[in-house]
Amino acid sequence: MAKTKKLTPMMEQYMEIRKDLPSDTLLLFRLGDFYEMFHEDAIEGSRILGITLTQRHDYPMAGMPFHAADSYVGKLLAAGKKVAICDQLETPVPGKLVKRSLTRILSAGTTIADNQITAEKNHFLASFLLNKSGLHLAWIDLTTGNFQIASDKNPENLLPVLTALDPSEIVVVEDSVSTWKANIHESPIYDQLVHITSGRTVSELPSFHFEVADGAKMVMETLGVLNLEGFGIKTTHLALGPAGALLHYATENLCAKPENLGIIREYRSVDTLLVDPSTLRNLEIFESSRGSREGSLMQAMDATSTAAGARLLEEYLISPTLDIIELQRRQKSVGAFIEESGAANRIKERLGSVRDISRILGRLQNRLRNPRELGGIRDTIKELPGIRAILTEIAGESVLSICERINEFEELTNLLNRALQDELPGQLQDGGYIRPGFDEDLDHLLSLTSDNRTWLSDLENSERERSGIKNLKVKFNNAFGYFIEVTKSNLNLVPENYMRKQTMVNCERFVTEDLKQKEKEIFHAEEKSKAREIELFGELVDAVLAHARELQRTSIALAELDLFIGWATLAREWDYCCPELDHSDQITISEGRHPVVEQMMKKEDLGLAGSFSFVPNDAALNSTENQLLIITGPNMAGKSTYIRQVALITLMAQVGSWVPASKCAIGIVDRIFSRVGANDELARGNSTFMVEMNETANILNNTTDRSLIILDEIGRGTSTYDGLSIAWAVVEHLHRDAERGPRTLFATHYQELTQLEKFLTRLKNFSVSVKEWNDEIVFVRRIVPGAADRSYGIQVARLAGLPAGVIDRAKVILHNLESEEGNVSISTPAPVTRRRNKISVTADDGSQLNLF
Ligand code: ADP
Repeated sequence: MAKTKKLTPMMEQYMEIRKDLPSDTLLLFRLGDFYEMFHEDAIEGSRILGITLTQRHDYPMAGMPFHAADSYVGKLLAAGKKVAICDQLETPVPGKLVKRSLTRILSAGTTIADNQITAEKNHFLASFLLNKSGLHLAWIDLTTGNFQIASDKNPENLLPVLTALDPSEIVVVEDSVSTWKANIHESPIYDQLVHITSGRTVSELPSFHFEVADGAKMVMETLGVLNLEGFGIKTTHLALGPAGALLHYATENLCAKPENLGIIREYRSVDTLLVDPSTLRNLEIFESSRGSREGSLMQAMDATSTAAGARLLEEYLISPTLDIIELQRRQKSVGAFIEESGAANRIKERLGSVRDISRILGRLQNRLRNPRELGGIRDTIKELPGIRAILTEIAGESVLSICERINEFEELTNLLNRALQDELPGQLQDGGYIRPGFDEDLDHLLSLTSDNRTWLSDLENSERERSGIKNLKVKFNNAFGYFIEVTKSNLNLVPENYMRKQTMVNCERFVTEDLKQKEKEIFHAEEKSKAREIELFGELVDAVLAHARELQRTSIALAELDLFIGWATLAREWDYCCPELDHSDQITISEGRHPVVEQMMKKEDLGLAGSFSFVPNDAALNSTENQLLIITGPNMAGKSTYIRQVALITLMAQVGSWVPASKCAIGIVDRIFSRVGANDELARGNSTFMVEMNETANILNNTTDRSLIILDEIGRGTSTYDGLSIAWAVVEHLHRDAERGPRTLFATHYQELTQLEKFLTRLKNFSVSVKEWNDEIVFVRRIVPGAADRSYGIQVARLAGLPAGVIDRAKVILHNLESEEGNVSISTPAPVTRRRNKISVTADDGSQLNLF
C-alpha cells in the first residue's frame, strides 16, 4: 500500500468497509456516478478489466460508470474474483460525507444479475460434506429458487448428480480440498471430488456452519415453515448441514436472506437413473468432447423457444427418472402436441413473447429491481389467457394438468397495463416509466415540472427581447444547474440584474434571482416526482410479489409447455417414436438412430448427389437371453456409434422424450455405464490404461441387473494379450453364473472374444457388415447377427490415407503373420514372442522380425 498520510474521511470510510473483506474480494465503492476501486483492488481490477489505472493523491484508483457495472462485474467473476458492492445510502449533500454500506457481495454462484449468468443454463451454488455416513449434498439456484438436498451412504451414488449440476460455485468445509488432494490415493472419491472442484470457484467455511440441527433451523426459517414434513424431509436429514452452510453463505453474499426460496426437494439416487461422471462425458450429454454445447445430446434435444424451457431440459437430464408415471405424463404431452401441431405452433408463437419470469421474480425478490423487470412480467402474463385458450382445445389429461397450473392474473395484468409505459428504462433512477393518468399526485408533480420548463423557455424569449441579445440562451448542466449564457461579443448588452457565475472561452454564464428561485422549484418538483415514481414502483413490485407463488408455478408450467412442444417438433421432424416403458428387462429398438450423429449428418448434407444419411439399426437386449452383445467389425464401421445410440435412446426415454427409432420398448434402467474414449482424462495425468481400468472397476463394482453397460474396445491401452485377457475376464464377469446380468453392449476388434458365444449362453455375437470390392471395403453400417470374419485393418488404413508403400508392406507382414500362426488364439500365443517389451515374430526363413 502507498505511504500513509492522514486519510480523508471518505478514505477512512472506505478502509473501514474494506478491512472486513477477504483478500480474494474486490471492493467496488460508489462515488457519484462511478464505482471506484482503490489500492491493490484497483491494480488487480484494472488488469483484469483492461481499464485505466489512475493515481489519486497517493493511491492507485480505477473505476467504471455505475450503469455499466454489471458487465464489468461479470468479467471479474469470470476471472474467479468475488466483488463486494458498496453503495451510497443517501443523496449526497456537498460538504458532508455520504453514508455508505455494503449492499451485496457477488461471487460466481451467488450473482443473479441478468448479464452475469447464462440464460439457458441453471446456475447452481452447491455445497457438500463427505464424512463417515456418506456424501451429503445441497444445491440452490438463487436465480430461480430451485433448492434441493441429497444424502447417500455410498458417495458414488451422488457423483452423477453433483457432476451433472455443473455448479458455478462450491461451498465446502475449510481445508477439505487440500486434504483430499493430499490423500488422493486413499480413495477414488477424493480424486473425484478434487476433479469436481478444480476449475471452479470454491469457498470454504468453518465446519460449524455444516451442523445438521443448525442447518435444519436455518432452512425452516428461510422457507418460513415450522417443520419440513410438508416436503417429506426429516429435520435430521444429513444434507441439511450443507444446506445450512449454503444459506449462510448466500445470506452473507446477498447481505440479506434469499427471499425467493419457497420449497426444498429431496433428490434420491434410488429414484434416479444414474449416469456416472465419465459416462456423462463419454456420451457427450451436456457438452461435446470439444467442450461445447454443439454436438451434445442436450443440444440435439433442445428445440425450446424460452430460456426456462432449455433449463428444464437440463434439469431433466441432470436427474433422469425411474418413475414411469411421470415419464408417461411427459410422453403423452409430447404426443398431444404432435397430434395438434397447429395449436402447438400457435402456442410456440406466443411463447416468443414470454419472458423469464422465474428469474425476474428471483431478482425482484432479492432486491435487484428495475422497471424493465416489471415490463417482463406484464408482457408474459398478458399472453396467458391466449395460451390457456389454445390449450383447452387440446384433448388429454396431461396437457390439461399443465393448463391448470397456468393462472391468468387478470387484475395484475390490468394494473400493470394501466401503470407502466410501453417502453421501460433499465434503471430505476431514470424515471418516466409510470403512465400519465395512473396516479394523480405524480401527474401533478410532472405538470409542475413541465410548467417550469415552459417558464424557462419563456424566460429565454423575454430576456432576448429585453436585452437585445439575439443568441442569449437558457441552459442547464449538472455542475451549475440553470444559467443564462451570453457570447463575449454581446457582453456589453448584459442587463444589470445578471450575476456572473462562470467565464468560458467564448461566453459568460449568468444567473438571476428569479432563475435561482425557479431552479429550486424545478429541482424540488423533479425530486418529488422521482420519489413518487419510485414509491409507485415499489407498490407495483409488491403487487407482483403478492402473486410470487402462482407466478413461479405458471413459469414452470410454461417451461414444460415449451420443452414438450419442442420435443414434439423434433419428433415430427426426425420421425421419432414414443417408447413403451415398463419394469421388464428388455431394451428393444427397431430402426434406431444416433440422435446427434443423425442431425449432424443432415446438417452437413448439402443435398449433393452421393451424400449419405444415417443408417438405422435394431437392438434387442434383455438380462436373461440376449444379455451381452459382442459387436465386432473393422474400425470405422460404426460400432461405437451403435452402442452409444442404444445408451442415448435409453436415456432419452428416461427423461420422457420420444426417441429416434420406429419402435422402442425400454424396461427401466437404473444406471448407464460406459467405457469409451478417455480424452479429457489424459489431461489429469492419468494414463489411458489407468483411466480405462478405473472406469472398468467402477462398472464392475457398481452395476446391478437393471443397469445398461456399453464398453468400447476395453483393453486397448495395454499390450494385445494383456488387453485381450482383461476384456475376456470382464465379459465373463458381466455374464456371471446367475441367470441374469446387466444388459451389455461390448464393441471390440478382438475377434477372439467372439469364441465366448460357445460357452456363455446369454452372450450373442453381432457385427457391422462391410462389403468387399476389389480389395477395397465399403461400410454399409448394418448391424447383423454373427461375428465379423476379418478386421480389414489394412483396408481401413488405406481409406485413412496411409501411403501406398506402407499399405503394401503391411500386407506382406500380415500375410507372413497369418501364414505363420494361423489365427492367433489366446491359448496358443507362440511363435509371437514378447521379450523385454518387444514383440517379434519368426519370419518364413526362420529369422526374427521385430514388430515393435
Ligand atoms: P467404429 O467404432 O467401428 O470405429 P464409429 O462408430 O466411430 O466406428 O463410426 C465411424 C463413422 O461412421 C463415424 O463418422 C460415424 O458418423 C459413421 N457412422 C457410424 N454409424 C453410422 C450409421 N449407422 N449411419 C451412417 N453413418 C454412420
